[in-house]
Amino acid sequence: MPNIEKLRRIASLNQNAKQIINRNPQEALDLATEALSLALESQDSTSITSSHYFIGSAKWRLGQLTDAITSLQEADIINKYLEQPVHEVEILNTLGNIYLDLQIYDLAFTYYQLGYHKAQHQNDPKMIATLLSNVGEIYRELNDNEAALDHYQLSLEGLKNLEEKDRIIYPISNIGAVYLSQGKLDLAEEYTLQALELARFYDDKIIESLSLKFLGILAKKNFNYRLAEDYLDQSLTLYSQTKELLFSTDVLFELHDLYTEQNKIQQSLIYLSEAIMIGEDLNAKHILKQAYQRLIKDHQALNNTQNAYYFMEKYMEVSEEIESVKLEQKRRSIQLMKQADITAQERDDYFLLNQQLEKAYQSAEVIHAIGRKVTATDDLEALYNIVYENLSILMASTTFGIAIHSEKLNALQYQYLIVDEERMENHFASLDNKNSLAVQCFIQNRSLVFRTRDDIKNVLNQNPSTMIGNVMNSMMFVPLVIEDKAIGIITIQNRADHAYNEQSLKTLETLAAYIAIAIRNTQKNNALKVEIEEKNSIQVELAKLNKELLDLSEIDGLTGIANRRHFDEFYDYEFKRCLRSHEWISLMMLDIDHFKEYNDHYGHLQGDEIIILIAKLIAKHAKRSSDLAVRFGGDEFIVVLSNTPQEDTLQIAMNIQEEVKARTLIHEYSPIAPHISLSIGITSMIPSTETSPNELLDKADQALYKAKENGRNQIQIY
Ligand code: GH3
Ligand code: MG
Repeated sequence: MPNIEKLRRIASLNQNAKQIINRNPQEALDLATEALSLALESQDSTSITSSHYFIGSAKWRLGQLTDAITSLQEADIINKYLEQPVHEVEILNTLGNIYLDLQIYDLAFTYYQLGYHKAQHQNDPKMIATLLSNVGEIYRELNDNEAALDHYQLSLEGLKNLEEKDRIIYPISNIGAVYLSQGKLDLAEEYTLQALELARFYDDKIIESLSLKFLGILAKKNFNYRLAEDYLDQSLTLYSQTKELLFSTDVLFELHDLYTEQNKIQQSLIYLSEAIMIGEDLNAKHILKQAYQRLIKDHQALNNTQNAYYFMEKYMEVSEEIESVKLEQKRRSIQLMKQADITAQERDDYFLLNQQLEKAYQSAEVIHAIGRKVTATDDLEALYNIVYENLSILMASTTFGIAIHSEKLNALQYQYLIVDEERMENHFASLDNKNSLAVQCFIQNRSLVFRTRDDIKNVLNQNPSTMIGNVMNSMMFVPLVIEDKAIGIITIQNRADHAYNEQSLKTLETLAAYIAIAIRNTQKNNALKVEIEEKNSIQVELAKLNKELLDLSEIDGLTGIANRRHFDEFYDYEFKRCLRSHEWISLMMLDIDHFKEYNDHYGHLQGDEIIILIAKLIAKHAKRSSDLAVRFGGDEFIVVLSNTPQEDTLQIAMNIQEEVKARTLIHEYSPIAPHISLSIGITSMIPSTETSPNELLDKADQALYKAKENGRNQIQIY
């Protein structure tokens, strides 16, 4: 293909990709990938950049976020060398979108801002509006709904005057979303319906599915579960048609929540397993995290503590991975931005990371390193050590302490205290001691910073005294907060003036948040562990108790008929009674034929079923109140029949055999019959003083033996 034709072909492939990217990102990806390979052949930088952009853009829509970043950054870098850069603003915007998805808000904001400046410079109102809308999204994620609405409205204004109206869908849909999260349901519905209509008009499947999802959530909020399910199903179907797997997980979670709200937890779990499959496929940890979070709750609701604990561990694991992925992404992006900066320095429209950001990044790295370890440990002592050691890299301290509130002592109790590198034990600060800065920090639930000794005097109106003794010039106290409630404090102190600055305070506050999380996790974990241990020990106790009861009882555990223990007593008593009253007493001993083969072929459980069945059957035939059917052991039974002569006993034995035969309990591996059969030995006597119970028992046993020897499935009398 001559080069000019190749370039035309690339342009047309990319153009087609652009047109379908919102409807079918997978196909767009295929087209752009083909374009890229042609572009690489032709070595045309503009085509290469363009193709990278569409690939990145499609991959973002397909949820392949890390790959998308690589493609887009590739495009961004090549652009810097081009006379006429292509898709510049779009690339920055899409990178912003990806970091928004990854919840790395500072980077998302940086990219949007870069794009915004560029769009203004190029006087591109369409992209300006898009970027405003996207910055609004960040505010929404950060729960600043007012700022979000402002940005969306600005975006909407900008778009209204434009020819191409399709972008108007985004701010409209976003405004609907804000109203939804503010609980202004009527407004939410109004905007969402408008977005839905426009999405259908412009054939934008993403916004269409999104709107359907919002309508589903709206219906749920109005307790119209049927309608909610209907909307959510429609949304899910659309997403799966466009292969928008990542977005579809949101709908799966909504469906899950819809069912749990109706207490149909088993059903709701199906949606979670689907979301987990997608999360694993796309290697999307934040999806897995959300799924595990829900699984913990569900299993707690189902009283399944062990599973809850299992998912708690998975949750911690994946949270930790997310943190390290975030860090890695940040590192890569900052490096790439710096590279880009070098080439773009001459162009003054490009504002970039400065030293401060880099420094912030450095401490962020240490903090995240701590954070990672924090989530991985549930040993608080080890955690405090980690914090202390890592913090020492960032800032010097002569005193470092972590104190937790003890209600019992009405004091802050130092769990960890280091003064001049030495570990101190047993330090408290009574909550009544208003001179204690730690106590003030705790009670006021806010950070306290002192940079000089005078600072401290001003606060205390007197010479400072700390519980720790040595007075420091620089001190920071930060409360450890769980759900808005202070549970303790962390402090770091130095003899020098001005040892800590704003950055140090931020670092300490971030660490305090991590420590609070770790303490809460440990508490939760321990509570769960205790619960599990309690449950386990209760179960062991119960099993023991049951066994004891069974031992004491006279009932066979498997079949529910009398056991050997009951037989021994009963038979002895009846024998003597018949001896006194000169009555007949008969014994019938029964044993299942070739039962080993049955177990071997059908399994022990099915074998048990047969034993239970035969036991019931025998008991049914020993129907007089003075009769007793007994499981003698294994597949062997014995029946005691008092006041019953031999011929009646024989009749009963025949009845039993007949019924067993009629039941045709299939036993294909029995060499003597195609079904379960019994061998029976019977014996009868009117006891005399010369006879003993054992003698009769022995005879019954011998009769049974004869029946077996004679070919089984028969009755023998002794
Ligand atoms: P036979 O015709 O000589 O009686 O042959 P058999 O295979 O039945 O041999 P026997 O009576 O000596 O063996 C009894 C078998 O019953 C041994 C064991 O595998 C099985 N058995 C004993 N107790 C249980 C039980 O509680 N459940 C089950 N499923 N099988 C049992
Ligand atoms: Mg047997």
